Amino acid sequence: MILRVGHLYPEYLNIYADRGNIAVFVRRAAARGHELRVEEVTLGTPLRPGAHDLLYVGGGQDREQAMIAPDLAARREAIRAAVDGGAALLAVCGGYQLLGRGYRGRDGSWLEGAGLFPHETVAGETRMIGDVLLESALPEAPGRTIAGFENHAGRTVLDPGAEALGRVVAGYGNDGSSRLEGCRVGRAFGTYLHGPLLPRNPWLADLLLSWAVAHATRGAPEALAPLADELEAEAHAVAAGRARSRGGRPA
Ligand code: GLN
Repeated sequence: MILRVGHLYPEYLNIYADRGNIAVFVRRAAARGHELRVEEVTLGTPLRPGAHDLLYVGGGQDREQAMIAPDLAARREAIRAAVDGGAALLAVCGGYQLLGRGYRGRDGSWLEGAGLFPHETVAGETRMIGDVLLESALPEAPGRTIAGFENHAGRTVLDPGAEALGRVVAGYGNDGSSRLEGCRVGRAFGTYLHGPLLPRNPWLADLLLSWAVAHATRGAPEALAPLADELEAEAHAVAAGRARSRGGRPA
């Protein structure tokens, strides 16, 4: 089956190897006999609701975020319609911030967001950098751990009742104090975890791909056939070990 991916602003938001997440989607879809067709959606190109089974946006520095923020915010309705229509979505760091209500930079400038995630972000004086380990807060993945790398000035505060991606075991997470990381709305995930995220958390890639297949077939989500994933498990263990060596608290 052909799965249609909309990759938002890849030439602007692609920091810390986030493009690797697309490579993981392509490989893991192909291993199940699906073809991923990746369409770049950037400044001024249309984003038609229903045109994609999966949307992806990576991270970037404040400068690049400012270049695309107005264009992204103008897609508020299209992104909401896509997610309400059952498309899967993964947003990393800068993209995650700009899919909330907005991001206030170090210089006090406000970047209006697309309002998909119930949160706001304010840049702090220090950067939150290092390996991160989370315990999944997803009902679909109880007890799973998520490992990655974070590097952000933004402190993202979830609205009361908002769903996080995970609870912080080691590292900063959304804001360095709530012990929550990421956010989830329907089949949309946002996270600060770079690395890229997916090679060391293959089950997360498969969960998103299973939703993309369900969207493409207008059927119910079904778990994808498992893959060997030894290398992925080893990468996860290394990243988790590095995060734990931080002693469960921010650096
Ligand atoms: N510029 C944003 C921040 O510093 C996002 C950084 C990123 O995408 N890694 O918080």
